[in-house]
Amino acid sequence: MYAIGIDIGGTNLKAGLVDERGGLVSAEKIPLRWEGPEKFVADLLALGDRLLEQQGLDRGAVSSVGMGVPGVVDHRRGTIVKTTNIPIRDLPVAEWIQRSWPVPVHLGNDADCAAWGEYCHFSHSEEESLVLVTLGTGIGTGLVLGGRLHRGCNGCAGEGGHIVIVPGGELCSCGRRGCWERYASASALVRQTRAAMAAHPDAGLWEIAGGDPSNVDGRTAFEGLRRGDAVARQVVEQYLDYLAEGVTDLINLLQPTFLCIGGGLSHEDDAYLLHPLQRRVETMRFDRDLQRHTEICKAVLGNDAGIIGAALLGRL
Ligand SMILES: [Zn+2]
Repeated sequence: MYAIGIDIGGTNLKAGLVDERGGLVSAEKIPLRWEGPEKFVADLLALGDRLLEQQGLDRGAVSSVGMGVPGVVDHRRGTIVKTTNIPIRDLPVAEWIQRSWPVPVHLGNDADCAAWGEYCHFSHSEEESLVLVTLGTGIGTGLVLGGRLHRGCNGCAGEGGHIVIVPGGELCSCGRRGCWERYASASALVRQTRAAMAAHPDAGLWEIAGGDPSNVDGRTAFEGLRRGDAVARQVVEQYLDYLAEGVTDLINLLQPTFLCIGGGLSHEDDAYLLHPLQRRVETMRFDRDLQRHTEICKAVLGNDAGIIGAALLGRL
């Protein structure tokens, strides 16, 4: 049997067929065009059918459907409460799908689905816990504690990106100042790199960016560091300091078995990202005199984590 995982992204609906071992067999995506809830659910069904057709399968081969939503879900009722990218409010999507496809439908927040996917990959026992920290436009965090997704009383748990690390600092989209994601997301690193270039017209970063700050991305400062640029080194070290503060807070609070770093930045060489992060956390973590401690590692499922995790929600 297979499960279908659906990832509702900012611009695309992505779906994948996942086998019983958690392997992604095939994937498809279509542009996300919001033309009302009926069309939205019809698109989801069509996407699922297309995946099955490609493999010469029919709906009978599917044991469950899971869906990762960028927003808040009520997983007990199978309802999308609200999303950040499309104007969905209180859509009983599970029930709507089941009208024409009577199969169990599971919902999760997208960061939760990604964390669950990584957990299913990493964990060896139900006692284990995992925190996924995804560095992107913001910082997404998902929590699996003792083998269970931790969703909180209202489905909103795991907003680790909004831990305040600089009181009175930069204004965040959530309304507070100094949130971790304002300093340690991939977007924050881009802003920090551009600010350093503006302050240092002779920095080697300019050459890497082809003389144009709009070419700066999350790799620019790391590339500068590789080339021995002193300004780039400062940017990366400051960035890693910020990253380590939030990671240490999460570890001190939860002591998970694994803390995985995901997002495009996690593809940096370990020598430049993972190892210096581990060294920083090692000096700060509360339990540093204990032998057994959280393993800080890279996420492994990449962009497929959301699809795979959504498909595996049926295992919860
Ligand atoms: Zn915030």
